[in-house]
Amino acid sequence: MSDIVGQITGNPLFGLIRNLTALFFIVIYFAVIFWAWRDANRRGAMGWFWGLVCAVFPFVGWLVYLVVRPPETLEDVRERELEIRTAEARLSRDYDTCPSCFKPVEKDFLICPYCMKKLRKPCVECGKALKLNWQVCPYCKTKQQQ
Ligand SMILES: [Zn+2]
Ligand SMILES: [Zn+2]
Repeated sequence: MSDIVGQITGNPLFGLIRNLTALFFIVIYFAVIFWAWRDANRRGAMGWFWGLVCAVFPFVGWLVYLVVRPPETLEDVRERELEIRTAEARLSRDYDTCPSCFKPVEKDFLICPYCMKKLRKPCVECGKALKLNWQVCPYCKTKQQQ
């Protein structure tokens, strides 16, 4: 039995495989540290801290990081906020709320179709819907009679 073990361990091929395996794990070790550092930075977590954790606790630190890392990257957060802002802008551009019945009305409605409240007045010159308290039409610069 010890003969076989001795043959295997004494084989130059075994040494080579052993060295390659060690090299492989060292490369993986540093790759994981680098990956955790970069990933944590992208997610707004402390990159240097998680890099250190993965260096001190190989693979265990990495597993812990996978569990506790922020679910979104900073780009995801920025993108989502941008989407919300765009949606809000679109909403506030096209729609208004009737001050009387609070139903959604379009910005150029002259009257609320639900409760008949007067919302806007038509410009005396170009007919565009103007707010009731506007003194002048912003589209054609015509002064409005009150
Ligand atoms: Zn209304
Ligand atoms: Zn006008």
